[in-house]
Amino acid sequence: MNDLQLDDFKTDENAAMVLLVDDQAMIGEAVRRGLAHEDNIDFHFCADPHQAIAQAIRIRPTVILQDLVMPGLDGLTLVREYRNHPATQNIPIIVLSTKEDPLIKSAAFAAGANDYLVKLPDNIELVARIRYHSRSYMTLLQRDAAYRALRVSQQQLLDTNLVLQRLMNSDGLTGLSNRRHFDEYLELEWRRAMRDQTQLSLLMIDVDFFKSYNDSFGHLEGDEALRKVAEAIRDASSRPSDLPARYGGEEFALVLPNTSPGGARLVAEKLRLAVAGLKIPHIVPAEGASLTISIGLSTMTPVQGTDCRQLISAADKGLYLAKHNGRNQAGIE
Ligand code: GH3
Ligand code: MG
Ligand code: MG
Repeated sequence: MNDLQLDDFKTDENAAMVLLVDDQAMIGEAVRRGLAHEDNIDFHFCADPHQAIAQAIRIRPTVILQDLVMPGLDGLTLVREYRNHPATQNIPIIVLSTKEDPLIKSAAFAAGANDYLVKLPDNIELVARIRYHSRSYMTLLQRDAAYRALRVSQQQLLDTNLVLQRLMNSDGLTGLSNRRHFDEYLELEWRRAMRDQTQLSLLMIDVDFFKSYNDSFGHLEGDEALRKVAEAIRDASSRPSDLPARYGGEEFALVLPNTSPGGARLVAEKLRLAVAGLKIPHIVPAEGASLTISIGLSTMTPVQGTDCRQLISAADKGLYLAKHNGRNQAGIE
């Protein structure tokens, strides 16, 4: 059902669209006359059973009145065809039979008919049944449309939540994970490493002489340099479980789950060379220098009763050593 149809149903759920399929024009005329004065009932007559499906698709009836005996095409076969076609499979079908016969009746219901009338029925009964089936069909369509709309909006909500989650976790300037996400992630990995008794490594990274970089080139240039350094840190973290983050200001962190001290040293060295290789011009410590970073390293296999702050604190001490020993290097406590 498209939106147009849904709108149709929204405007008047009491409206009925009747399609009568019968080879006898006389029956068509009689039903037409019977429905002529009924409010909200549209009537279409199809005398050629071979055209019935096509016409049903075109006019979208809310009820089909189906003759059983027609030359060339059995009415029950047609009922089965309506049921097999996606456009007509749920349209209520009232079979019009020439006689009250239990065998024909059960065959009609087995083929998919919803109701059975011996023609020509009394007009009051015909109208009542048309209205009853038509309204239940429209209720069904409305319910299906409402479900579809609900599913769409649920999906939109999920998508929006994903976007929000990503925004909440990322740092605006660099696009790396922010401090909040870093804290959560480190805590999680600390507990995992404790469970699995694996080594968890952490790199604390600090840009060297960055205050003077800002002072010399301005904060906008400073921001741009931070973005480049962040990019290098992102590139240095090769495993999906590695988490690069902006710790604050010009300090970054890289969480390396399941990584030995040797592995962490390799990553740190690769990262240090990558940033130096960016050749971002600086005038400190000397004219013609490039921007560099210092890195503090720590690796622990957590034991019960310990806290991931110990890992941060150890990496901080390593960073202090790196600074103290001349910067542009990695330090381990
Ligand atoms: P050190 O080599 O010892 O690390 O010296 P430093 O100058 O890098 O260290 P300090 O902590 O004295 O200065 C850090 C500077 O980083 C100060 C601050 O202006 C700058 N900074 C922090 N966050 C940002 C930022 O988001 N953008 C810019 N442009 N600068 C920032
Ligand atoms: Mg700093
Ligand atoms: Mg610094």
